[in-house]
Amino acid sequence: MRIGVLGAGQLGRMLALAGYPLAKDFVFYDMSGSPSAGLGEVIIDRDGQYLDDFISRVDRVTYEFEHLPVAVAEELAKHKPVHPCPRALEVCQNREAEKTLFGRLGIPTPQWQIADSAESLKAAAEELGCPVVAKSITEGYDGKGQAVLKTPEEAQAAWSSIGHPRVIVEKFVNFKREVSIIAVRAEDGDLAFYPIAENTHHEGILRYSIAPAPALQAHIQQDAEKYIKSLLNELNYVGVLTLELFETNDGLVANEMAPRVHNSGHWTIEGAMTSQFENHIRAVSGHALGNVAARGLSCMINIIGEHGDIERILELPYAHVHLYNKGERPGRKLGHVNILADSYEELVWRVRNCAQFLPGSPEFTSTLTPRG
Ligand code: AMP
Repeated sequence: MRIGVLGAGQLGRMLALAGYPLAKDFVFYDMSGSPSAGLGEVIIDRDGQYLDDFISRVDRVTYEFEHLPVAVAEELAKHKPVHPCPRALEVCQNREAEKTLFGRLGIPTPQWQIADSAESLKAAAEELGCPVVAKSITEGYDGKGQAVLKTPEEAQAAWSSIGHPRVIVEKFVNFKREVSIIAVRAEDGDLAFYPIAENTHHEGILRYSIAPAPALQAHIQQDAEKYIKSLLNELNYVGVLTLELFETNDGLVANEMAPRVHNSGHWTIEGAMTSQFENHIRAVSGHALGNVAARGLSCMINIIGEHGDIERILELPYAHVHLYNKGERPGRKLGHVNILADSYEELVWRVRNCAQFLPGSPEFTSTLTPRG
């Protein structure tokens, strides 16, 4: 079976690495002009001229990147099975549609309003009560196209800095931590849920994911499963879906979803019985899902901007290095290291020991390492 992947970055690369042992072949379709997957065939097509060629070469289509025209996915779906369905793409490309769907399915979200001018942004900030977060409705990722307003008077400056005709204004969530749940749905509707991960960001970029999230109450995992299950079934979804959430004293509040394998699930490569990548390939190929249980405790450390001393990390007996074969550039995801341990105490020590060889890494902090 040949799987066509829309997008050709590191997620596509890791999908292929997981798919080869299952005898899958891969054709990547890249609209960016700078593919980095480095595996399989790559069709570079900035203007959509070679879509027919792509369709004729693949049996199934999936994607590793959600900022692609929905029309392209819809066109492909007329000819070949496309998993996840184009509607999933459509929903997650628009924060208003996404939050509306969450609300309809009973998934808690921050209180929100829409603004289409600096004046309505100010009014929304007044009504919701500051602080609020304003985000462009479309084209936002990794904290880009966003502004936090501490007072309604900051509306004009926030509006100008975002520079988008329509924004969603959300009440600022006073969260204990950021978490995510990754789940997978098979063609026959079978479901599997990975343990929740605790995620730490720095300058808008994920830096550390710990899984299973430490000190997680059982009902939080159950709530997250209930929420993501309702999304998966509503969308008749096939493949891996990620739901990013805030954990608060009153339970979970949903932030956004990603209709694909996710950076906060990279720990599953060594840390789970079946990785998110393999399970995505299994699902989109029509196979049974693999066991999602954790093998122990894991922490994923992202390698951002510069590679650091990889040779030293390779000497660590508990570290698994994954490099994406990309050039160094500030803020760029170049690879990740998965650390495994048998206790959280050991995990913290190992993560710190590893992170010292990654000069761009912020100090490791998590709920395991309370500040002060
Ligand atoms: P997003 O692009 O929606 O994932 O937002 C990027 C980051 O901004 C999140 O990971 C949070 O750290 C922060 N953030 C977004 N929305 C809110 C919110 N309503 N309240 C508090 N923090 C937020």
